[in-house]
Amino acid sequence: MWTDARWNKLTISHGCYWKQCSFCDVTLDYIGNYQNTTAEDLVNKIEQIMQDTGIKGFHFVDEAAPPKMLKALSLKLIERDVKITWWTNIRFEKTFDFELCQLMAKSGCIAVTGGLEVASDRLLAKMKKGVDIAQVTRVTHNFSQNNILVHAYLMYGFPTETEQETIDSLEVVRQLFERNCIQSAFWHQFTATAHSPVGLNPDEFSIKIIGPAFEGFAQNDLYHLDPTGADHPKYTKGLNVALHNYLNNAGYQENLQFWFDFPIPKTTHPKDLIEGFLR
Ligand code: SF4
Repeated sequence: MWTDARWNKLTISHGCYWKQCSFCDVTLDYIGNYQNTTAEDLVNKIEQIMQDTGIKGFHFVDEAAPPKMLKALSLKLIERDVKITWWTNIRFEKTFDFELCQLMAKSGCIAVTGGLEVASDRLLAKMKKGVDIAQVTRVTHNFSQNNILVHAYLMYGFPTETEQETIDSLEVVRQLFERNCIQSAFWHQFTATAHSPVGLNPDEFSIKIIGPAFEGFAQNDLYHLDPTGADHPKYTKGLNVALHNYLNNAGYQENLQFWFDFPIPKTTHPKDLIEGFLR
């Protein structure tokens, strides 16, 4: 979706209304300075851009599109009979109930992307993500039930993340795919950045920043040591191979050990964790 065809790029809001995640550059203007518009204005812009480009597809490239605005936008598109196809980035928050997802789908939404990050309730709290696994399960299910594709940004290597937590996170991802809550995902290895709460207060997150020396311009990615966490790069290959299979609707029955060429701990999650949240 990112690279096929052409999308008009537009933001619904500037910045992020949440601006709390500890790995995110929340002290920079493009995240921390949240400003909104009205649905009326937005639909005016959408109509103008369609007229200028002849393209009816829109990718709203928000940091996190606010649910209230998405509701207002969907209602306005339907009311004014403006027919577009659109997708955007969101937070998996509980406001996205079945009815809102249904309304979004009716107004032309075909996909959402959002951060599940490390699927561990301890680490989601530590990173101040403001969601937990149960909530992500129910919200992604609401989208999927309405034929809105869900892409999840996944993370491994967050400060203090243990081997057990990485494997348990993979098990959550496996079950979310198996239950068709998410259909697409990508693993990113955590990087401490200069303008994030982690980069600004590494002690609080039990890591040590070791470089690089600031040379005056745009040195945003920092090197760090994580003495209490696992050897994170070791997991890159196995996590990616497993995910590649799940993306192709395969490999759900394989034991997680199958994806790694070194011994890993058994997951602590029950096989019906996600099923239980849906029930
Ligand atoms: S990670 Fe996303 S939701 Fe969190 S503060 Fe940054 S932009 Fe907002």
